[in-house]
Amino acid sequence: MSEQVKYLLDESRIPKAWYNIQADLPKPAPAVLHPGTHKPVGPDDLAPLFPMELILQEVTLEREVPIPEPVREVYRQWRPAPLYRARRLEKALQTPARIYYKYEGVSPAGSHKPNTAVAQAFYNKQAGVKRLITETGAGQWGSSLAFAGALYGLEVQIFMVRVSYNQKPYRRALMETYGARCIASPSKETQSGRAILAKDPDHPGSLGIAISEAVEVAAQRDDTKYALGSVLNHVLLHQTVIGLEAIEQLEMANDYPDVIVGCTGGGSNFAGIAFPFIGAQLRGGKKVRVVAVEPAACPSLTRGTYAYDFGDTAHLTPLTKMHTLGSTFTPPGFHAGGLRYHGMAPLVSHLKELGLLEARAYEQTKVFAAGVQFARAEGILPAPEANHAVKGAIDEAIRCREEGVSRSILFNLCGHGHFDMQAYMDYFAGKLEDRQYEEQELAMALAGLPSVAEPA
Ligand SMILES: *Cc1c(COP(=O)(O)O)cnc(C)c1O
Repeated sequence: MSEQVKYLLDESRIPKAWYNIQADLPKPAPAVLHPGTHKPVGPDDLAPLFPMELILQEVTLEREVPIPEPVREVYRQWRPAPLYRARRLEKALQTPARIYYKYEGVSPAGSHKPNTAVAQAFYNKQAGVKRLITETGAGQWGSSLAFAGALYGLEVQIFMVRVSYNQKPYRRALMETYGARCIASPSKETQSGRAILAKDPDHPGSLGIAISEAVEVAAQRDDTKYALGSVLNHVLLHQTVIGLEAIEQLEMANDYPDVIVGCTGGGSNFAGIAFPFIGAQLRGGKKVRVVAVEPAACPSLTRGTYAYDFGDTAHLTPLTKMHTLGSTFTPPGFHAGGLRYHGMAPLVSHLKELGLLEARAYEQTKVFAAGVQFARAEGILPAPEANHAVKGAIDEAIRCREEGVSRSILFNLCGHGHFDMQAYMDYFAGKLEDRQYEEQELAMALAGLPSVAEPA
């Protein structure tokens, strides 16, 4: 039996604790502020939306947060996730680089999202919650929470961004198979949705709008809580199982990454693979270059402003300091729905400000070309979001070839693209365009940032 197969069958290898980067930061991340008072929020302010265990995970400074045994038991179905060496891709690129990828497409929903969905459903069930409300873009998060809800007997209701709802009927069918109810957003079921539809009945929707709808419904009922698939500290925390496993797996390969690449929508899969390595570096370990890759059509890290902003369009959420394009910004409808968010995780934003990571933006035709090249070499068909990481890793490998140096490159293949075949068909038919966002709309959205006096 190969070492990797032994490792994958060894349940004791599933991490017993998540890694919390807040314990190792040279400077703490800025406080989260109440949307009305602009004062730092306390646990009670968040209690209508989240169970207390998750609120405490949001702010804890403990380095290790134990993973409950029942959650590890669910993880066992697909964790540890495999780490592959992309030997055939290396050969195709004629690069001296060693390329590794962690594959999160082996989860039931096909992405990294169940790593946090299962944990969130567990803590909600434990707190006596009956119903979870959420939003979804491309449908990856919605199907992950629907799956987790089915495991714990929780009712799940999902506001799905309208363009994706129409483009991706199979993701919707998957959510319904798990027993969830899926509603196109903006919808007539909420005040926030009705306000948008009154202005534009054909509005394509956005994650910011769908979040407003979900938060509005969740805040109204005691037995109902809200769940978010990215951005928040506790979500990033749950995803660190990815990087923790990768450290051990690379150790078995006698290697350590020089460069780590991940795609960034809200920042969770990127944080999941990168934070454990950045943490090791902050504690005196080896320095790694970390590259966040985002779409040029929704470039929060490379073109956004680092400022306090709302997480949603209707301004119902607390204010967090992050790289943002403005909460009213609607990105054009390109094919990586999971990356169409106006903001970025506060922790990822903070690390960028501290100079601990670099960011890069690519146009979608180039990203799909990379994904196709990867599929032809490695056989796995990446999600359109994951293609951004593939493109980033390929560019790093080409740089190694040009410089004549062998570096170790690790990237996160955060999901498969089996529900995204229309995007691939459009790419092959030459129908994919490199959509530009409206500069004027971006300027307007940024001009509308709330003015916040920063707490000392
Ligand atoms: C949701 C999703 C993303 C974007 O979210 P992050 O929080 O940035 O990881 C990226 N890739 C896949 C496959 C997704 O499902």
